[in-house]
Amino acid sequence: MTLTVEQARDLVLARCRVLATERVPILEALGRVLAADVRSDIDIAPFDNSAMDGYAVRAADLATAVDGVPVTLDVVSHIAAGDHSDLEVGPGQAARIMTGAPMPPGADSVVMVEYTTPGEAAGSTGGTVHVSRTVAPGENVRLRGEEVAAGDAVLLAGEVVGPAAVGLAASAGHATVEVHRRPRVAVLSTGDELVEVAEQPGPGKIRNSNSYSIAAQVLAAGGEPLRFPIVRDDPDATREAFARAAAEADFIVTSGGVSVGDFDFVKPVLEELGEMEFCKVAMRPGNPQTLGSIDGVPFFGLPGNPTSTYVGFEVFVRPALRYMQGHTALDRPRSVATLAHDVKKKQDRRYYLRARLERGEDGGLVVALSGSQSSALLTAAHKGNCLLVLPQGEGFFAAGTPAEVVRLDMEEGSP
Ligand code: AMP
Ligand code: MG
Repeated sequence: MTLTVEQARDLVLARCRVLATERVPILEALGRVLAADVRSDIDIAPFDNSAMDGYAVRAADLATAVDGVPVTLDVVSHIAAGDHSDLEVGPGQAARIMTGAPMPPGADSVVMVEYTTPGEAAGSTGGTVHVSRTVAPGENVRLRGEEVAAGDAVLLAGEVVGPAAVGLAASAGHATVEVHRRPRVAVLSTGDELVEVAEQPGPGKIRNSNSYSIAAQVLAAGGEPLRFPIVRDDPDATREAFARAAAEADFIVTSGGVSVGDFDFVKPVLEELGEMEFCKVAMRPGNPQTLGSIDGVPFFGLPGNPTSTYVGFEVFVRPALRYMQGHTALDRPRSVATLAHDVKKKQDRRYYLRARLERGEDGGLVVALSGSQSSALLTAAHKGNCLLVLPQGEGFFAAGTPAEVVRLDMEEGSP
């Protein structure tokens, strides 16, 4: 039975489980999903402090201050960031204060240094300052607990850790946080024609490029690739490799060996060691996409052609790996763009063409194919930044008409 892409994707996700959690240093949590709330042990900010370099004052003292008729205040202290002063700022007094320095008692606002001129004995405590502006009470003061109160959460379970979250965790006193584990993904390339990258391919041979492109896609999806040695087109070798992969990995991805060739052993061995759920999806490139599992470990058999591998991973494996890491945003954003040229579609299956999205002169999105669409060639995927989706059914899509694209240049969850 041939499935639609949506049916197939639902079945893939249904075979996956959200992985257990682990505690990692906050920098390693970048891009991962929090498994527990992160609470602060202190108020953030821990004390009222100045948002500006200037003078801590009592706002009421400056009620009459204007350009030309300044109010003169006595400077009673000088507070730098990291300092602390218990000296009260009384009526008619001010404290020289730097950004981030704690507010002295008595003062309720900070006037920026730009609105002051030095008076007598300026620069030292005991001098004066002329202020030519009023301030509102609380102006330029950052309040204690403004970000969060002690005991409250700065980050919530389920949130994705970005650079700002790393900073919040640090402020809240957490050197480590609890996140979902990254899936260990076994990457197995099958084929007697394959040689290692460092080798010069002999007659009839090609380099094992899929192992690397898939591993890179695993990394980009937040997973940990385990690149297996090339699996020869032989049932015993296939059996042995699959069994090892099921023992070591949270997810198994293979390339090649899923067609109807005489030496395609992926499906029979999958059925022997585990179970196969489907082996055909109505899409191009890559109609022989295969789902199953071995010992409960989800197994996805990608076709061997480099672009079929690439697109199949993007459509089926990437959402699965994200799901396992606790992400709830599993779909890349989509946009509607104007076709830059005619596109003919010869087969009924849904097409995912490698394409490039640009801004047209009028500011709208325009999409054009980014190179040859042969599934054996990867350059169009490299040059492209989206997949142009042509719906099921044969058809002709004329230049100037709208078409849907999957944004490979944007993260899941972007609007
Ligand atoms: P298969 O699905 O095994 O029949 O392979 C389909 C096509 O993909 C053949 O032309 C293979 O040579 C090519 N191919 C298979 N595996 C790889 C690989 N690991 N790297 C690059 N090309 C591959
Ligand atoms: Mg093969």
